[in-house]
Amino acid sequence: MIDLIDGTAVQKPLADTFRRPITYLRISVTDRCNLRCTYCMPEAGLPWIPKSDILAYEEIEAIVAAAASVGVRSIRLTGGEPLVRRDLPELVCRLAAIPGIDDIALSTNGLLLADAARALAAAGLRRVNVSLDTLRSERFEAIARRPGLERVLAGIDAALAAGLGPLKLNCVLMRGQNDDELADFAALAYDRALYVRFIEVMPVHENVGMQTDAYVSSDEILERLGAVARLEAVSGPGGNGPARYFAAPGAHGAVGVISPLSHDYCDRCNRVRLSADGRLRLCLFGDYEIDLRGPLRAGASQADIARLFGAGMLIKPERHHLELGIPSSRMRAFSEIGG
Ligand code: SAM
Ligand code: SF4
Repeated sequence: MIDLIDGTAVQKPLADTFRRPITYLRISVTDRCNLRCTYCMPEAGLPWIPKSDILAYEEIEAIVAAAASVGVRSIRLTGGEPLVRRDLPELVCRLAAIPGIDDIALSTNGLLLADAARALAAAGLRRVNVSLDTLRSERFEAIARRPGLERVLAGIDAALAAGLGPLKLNCVLMRGQNDDELADFAALAYDRALYVRFIEVMPVHENVGMQTDAYVSSDEILERLGAVARLEAVSGPGGNGPARYFAAPGAHGAVGVISPLSHDYCDRCNRVRLSADGRLRLCLFGDYEIDLRGPLRAGASQADIARLFGAGMLIKPERHHLELGIPSSRMRAFSEIGG
């Protein structure tokens, strides 16, 4: 990955063996969460990663600097729930100062967002995605297994007021649980500059019992939306994601679908992931990973870490092999993977 020109080391931008440029790094800053969404993690929580194994902010900064040196430009902070990690604006500030990093975004369940939005924006955060599966309080408590809808709605308002837009709402649509709220979510995207993305529920160990009943394909979602509004394909708000967007004439925002199962987007994959304990994960599912924490704590240089990113390119698979109804040892809890 490193060429020498006139004796000077020149780092090549990352591209995998399928010639996909890799410019986007999703960082799980914690595996812990203040909710227990039924499709994501068990009610009792997960066997949490010991604190000493979690990357410190300086370690994440060092890894991102190495990633930036080989062409990574966009960062998303995720989890678990990233806002349960103390002083997250400090991490944002460190990452925003790294040359080459020009976009930092956050995925959150929104519970702690109202208090954090301004400090995050001031630290250099650009955009926020908020997960919200229902607009009804009692349902929120059933799906997330904890109360909090009002706090999430306040978090969305605070994020918009702090300029953390375009703001995307992620809604995992499940048959018999929240699919009757499709039109209510679409109305949100009509009235405000919100981008509501419906995500197909993905199979992981935690939800393997419910997935075949709950799964609604994005084609069905679009068909049902089309019955309540005249939708046209639009380009959407930008970003690194795999969503396809649609809007009714006159809408301030748009609705989108993310179809990991029915229209898998692997051929456009531009991303790798960093787990909270420092594993570079080359695909959302499967065991394709390289430990960065060990080498980093043993004194690896920025160039050494950049070389490990390059090594990752050799094992990044062409696609995931998610299938409905098939429990697999490789399908771990989503938050453990660092969604
Ligand atoms: N806690 C944050 C949140 O909820 O936004 C960030 C982490 S969460 C794992 C990231 C996203 O993954 C959320 O939008 C969540 O709805 C989605 N997700 C989790 N498990 C999923 C599953 N089994 N299928 C589809 N989406 C899932
Ligand atoms: Fe927590 Fe996000 Fe998973 Fe819900 S989806 S349990 S908020 S990590």
